[in-house]
Amino acid sequence: MRPPGARSRLTLPPGYRQNIPAMANRSWTTDALILSLSTWGEGNREALFLTPEGSLQRASVFGGAKSRLRAQVGPWQTGKLWLYTDPVKKSTKITDIDVKAWRQGIRESLVRTWCASLCVEIVSKSHGSADWRVVNAFLDGISVSDDDECRRGLIRFLWRYLLGSGLNPDTARCGRCGADADRTLGDPFRSVLFYSPHEDGFLCPDCARREERLFPLSPPALLYLDAVERLSPSETRSLPLEREPYGELRSLLFFLLSRAMGGPLKTLETGEGIL
Ligand SMILES: [Zn+2]
Repeated sequence: MRPPGARSRLTLPPGYRQNIPAMANRSWTTDALILSLSTWGEGNREALFLTPEGSLQRASVFGGAKSRLRAQVGPWQTGKLWLYTDPVKKSTKITDIDVKAWRQGIRESLVRTWCASLCVEIVSKSHGSADWRVVNAFLDGISVSDDDECRRGLIRFLWRYLLGSGLNPDTARCGRCGADADRTLGDPFRSVLFYSPHEDGFLCPDCARREERLFPLSPPALLYLDAVERLSPSETRSLPLEREPYGELRSLLFFLLSRAMGGPLKTLETGEGIL
């Protein structure tokens, strides 16, 4: 006579018991910022997204042109994702989304779109060093800002990104003679400082050589960077930034970002003239 339960044990697939924990983990949820969508196969899409922990993940988005899911998973949107991971195929798909921030205003202006594209390119290439709050706040801001506010917002975002990654050159002292900017210049913001790519630091006027490639930053430009570092985002948002210091910061920060990313940024190359 067969002992009770033997039949069911015999019909279970091998490894069934070991599979139980993995099966329990197949469905999962996370908050996510959708960075980009790429198409593969016959109209299927794959989303690249950032999580609050700073990790970059990919997941498929199935569905035809009229599917609700496909319509809701779009770049620059933040929401909660429901996902399913197939441990055998090692593939993940999005099964549902609850969009919390649509940011549709980004599509309404070329400058906004371009700023968002640059942000996404930086986050996509940053391998987890992008700060969830800083990135989301930047996208929230540009989706409702006019073009000039977007330009200033981009400067602040880029400097915050460099500060957060520890890639910001020191504006407090000369990278060559080591003199404290306070002592050398009396007032750190009363004189121009020159960023030297060779030193990866700022030089005082005495040390800056004419034959070097240098990025000058005038006192208002230095003051702006200092404010971004020391003041709250709401305090810096209202600070003015004139055309000339904006241009200096733009040149320097675009250079520093390209260097930090290990090469030219596609958005900067294709967006020439937009900012
Ligand atoms: Zn010096």
